[in-house]
Amino acid sequence: MHELSICAALLRRVEALAASKAGRVSAVRVTAGPLSGVEPDLLAQAFRVARTGTRASTAELIIERAPVRIRCLRCRHETETAANALTCPACGGERTQLLSGDELLLTGIDLLEAGPGADASAPRSCPPGS
Ligand SMILES: [Zn+2]
Repeated sequence: MHELSICAALLRRVEALAASKAGRVSAVRVTAGPLSGVEPDLLAQAFRVARTGTRASTAELIIERAPVRIRCLRCRHETETAANALTCPACGGERTQLLSGDELLLTGIDLLEAGPGADASAPRSCPPGS
């Protein structure tokens, strides 16, 4: 499953970030372009599997959709557009270059406050094995 390997790679980076701040992760934020080939629903499903046993085991995956940006090769006009409309709105040119919209980026993580009174009421999950 494509999304599972994406999540595994994502979580390795999340773990490294969280470890340096000695915290537990409450949310993982990613930006997914409409042309990234990533299905948000499948990614969220895969994340729930992949997060097990990590610092992000109770974290929520927040997926933000990135805009598609194109540049016209004829008039150099740059614009945001829909994924299925890759022609230049300025001159009608059909030869455009994709600037963004096919990326999947880790944009940030939220960490749980470890202090007393924090509403970290999420159930503890035991690490597998050990
Ligand atoms: Zn143009």
